[in-house]
Amino acid sequence: MKQCNKCKEDLIAGTNFNANNLKYSKYICRSCEYKKSRKWELDNPIRRKELYKHWRTKHKGVYGIFSGKICLYVGESNQLNGREGSHLTWMKNEHLRKHSNHHNKLYEKMDAYDNKKVRVLEYTDNHVEREYYWKNKLNPLFNIL
Ligand SMILES: [Zn+2]
Repeated sequence: MKQCNKCKEDLIAGTNFNANNLKYSKYICRSCEYKKSRKWELDNPIRRKELYKHWRTKHKGVYGIFSGKICLYVGESNQLNGREGSHLTWMKNEHLRKHSNHHNKLYEKMDAYDNKKVRVLEYTDNHVEREYYWKNKLNPLFNIL
């Protein structure tokens, strides 16, 4: 068994150790990793702000829901990852859909299509404006219900 190279605790993947770290031979437990990144943040306040700003910009944009080559829906978001996730979760989770009105019609209609995928079409600060461009270009089937 591998030990954390900082606190020497036994590493159990998924419990106190992120299994992805194995790929990089990074033997450090979660709490030491957390402490390390907190320390970095405190030591590098300006760099941290920049990274955060970059991260925010990176997550604004336009996405599409596709079934093969058919475009079902185009939407914009200032938190692309969150939005991608919610669409996919909702498509997979009928129970959740039954308990909310939000987008219900959309998901019902999309049920007829297989292999749905959410794809980011463009990362941009102009996400509201660019949504029109992509709607015109792709003619999504269900943007107007
Ligand atoms: Zn440790």
